[in-house]
Amino acid sequence: MSELSTEAPAQSGKPTIFFDGVSSRKRQVTLTLGDALEIAEEGGTPVSWVYADIRRADSPAGILRLASTSAPSLARLEIRDAALAADVTIRCMRLDEHQTSRRGVAKIVGWSMAAAVSIVCVVLFGVPLAADRLAPLVPKPIERRIGDASEVQVKTIFGSSGCEDPAGKAAFKKLVNRLRDAAGLDDDAMTAGVLPSAIPNAFALPGGKVFVLNALIDKAENPDELAGILAHELGHLKHHDNMRGLIYNGGTSFLIGLLFGDVTGSSAVIFASRSVVEASYSREAETAADTFAIDIMHALGRSPKPAAELMFRITGKEGGGLASILASHPLTEDRLARMTKEDRPASGPPLLTDTEWQALKGICGSGKI
Ligand SMILES: [Zn+2]
Repeated sequence: MSELSTEAPAQSGKPTIFFDGVSSRKRQVTLTLGDALEIAEEGGTPVSWVYADIRRADSPAGILRLASTSAPSLARLEIRDAALAADVTIRCMRLDEHQTSRRGVAKIVGWSMAAAVSIVCVVLFGVPLAADRLAPLVPKPIERRIGDASEVQVKTIFGSSGCEDPAGKAAFKKLVNRLRDAAGLDDDAMTAGVLPSAIPNAFALPGGKVFVLNALIDKAENPDELAGILAHELGHLKHHDNMRGLIYNGGTSFLIGLLFGDVTGSSAVIFASRSVVEASYSREAETAADTFAIDIMHALGRSPKPAAELMFRITGKEGGGLASILASHPLTEDRLARMTKEDRPASGPPLLTDTEWQALKGICGSGKI
């Protein structure tokens, strides 16, 4: 057992129960979160569970019930204290590995039960800190589930059909792939799509999903304009800004939704998708995403300036109204000046051919070419 921070949080609250899987006796135990999870009954021999072996078992709401692949198959640990459950959950990176998608919602709820309460606790002491700390800790599968759920919601808002023109999709995929490769993002870590909407916008959902609303493509005059904005969104993805925003902006309504298991078609996700679609990130996050975009465009031998020009044209035409991309990404003087300063003559090949660009413009099949 490590001597470093092995103390479990105060366990005065709700009891933790352990069934050893051999006898049917219900034991009240104390947990120590060391190199492994130590389960100790007063007067008994402690049992040690390796975190990587711990899996979530079916449980009623409010209880985190765990099994271990290296313990007797009927062995169960039941944690009722939410803060303790959150602490244990964060250490068990393979908690939900065995689950199938059918169990997806329960997984989110189960994880959220634990995480939400711990988030709520930290909310009391400072939300930004909580969001910053928690965003990178959200396990990938959970982030992906939240992303999937948000995507469903986003598609009910914008409509899921209409931007399926094969040549347009191929061109879009090529553009996204070039940016993704230059950004060094995982192959399976992201998906991208175009949605029909009269609002010029682009946004990233948790789990690596980037969406562009086709009005933005309509307004773009060349691939570089669009690419710069996509690259900026990739920056938000890379930096987990969307998860951070979800936790930060979501605050209690998001958490309450999750706590009540209200995840799939409901307030939590409506909130979640609204929050990511309308996400307003901190100035620091915007600057970091711009830096990311500038680096990607330079790596591709293209200028980041056209993206700023596109954003500027949208402001010009729409006065920076709420409906535009500028609501979530205000094009401040600083940003415009910076992207202009980073202008370079093109040293790389065009990101798309003229034919591909025209195909992308027609991706929603609206005849606007
Ligand atoms: Zn942004």
